[in-house]
Amino acid sequence: MHDYSFINENLNEVHEAMKKAFTGSMRTSNDLTLINVSKTKPVEALMEAYNYGERHFGENKVQELIEKYETMPKDIKWHMIGHLQTNKVKYIVDKVEYIHSVDSLKLAQTIDKEAQKHNVTVKILIEVNVAGEDTKFGVSVEETENLVREIAKLNNVKICGLMTIAPYVDDPEENRQYFVKLRELSVDIADKNIDNVNMNVLSMGMTGDYCVAIEEGATLVRVGTGIFGRRDYV
Ligand SMILES: *Cc1c(COP(=O)(O)O)cnc(C)c1O
Repeated sequence: MHDYSFINENLNEVHEAMKKAFTGSMRTSNDLTLINVSKTKPVEALMEAYNYGERHFGENKVQELIEKYETMPKDIKWHMIGHLQTNKVKYIVDKVEYIHSVDSLKLAQTIDKEAQKHNVTVKILIEVNVAGEDTKFGVSVEETENLVREIAKLNNVKICGLMTIAPYVDDPEENRQYFVKLRELSVDIADKNIDNVNMNVLSMGMTGDYCVAIEEGATLVRVGTGIFGRRDYV
């Protein structure tokens, strides 16, 4: 048996830092939830976080999400945060709280079709490549509103907000500009009052920069390494 008690200490620290960032900021939303990004980590490690009281877990691979979904307690909310192939959508549409990584109409149409079959409505976030990095998935800032308008026409998906993955940086202040930009984009789109669209969720901030993201209005932060320690592979 591994000793995973360090996870409790990490969670204490993360929640302390979150509270500090939250209270010290000018943000308007009161919603803030920690997503425990548990990719590559064994169920025993996740259960340590679960027993601490954590209920939101994020995975980036369909197969791994399903395996953990099936073995872990049923009151967990699962978040699909990784790039999603259309042929795998059918396995997760009825198992996730949000799909964070929708960046094309084709993917949204597939989710809609599978959601209809399962008789569910799937809550999604639009992934925006705010920093314009070539290596990242996500729609550009300029194209986001048009994509939102197209996806909004689908009956079995519900757009709930935006998500971004900021660049890997040493100084989290370098990413503040991108978090501000995502928040501004979400306010712009909310102001358009598009049917079947709300912009209440802002999924931004990871281990290196979640405090800055919270200051800029994140409602979901995705923290992996800061809770579970380093991953052996990504
Ligand atoms: C892995 C991952 C995270 C967590 O990254 P850490 O730096 O370990 O906190 C957050 N979001 C996405 C989309 C990820 O793939």
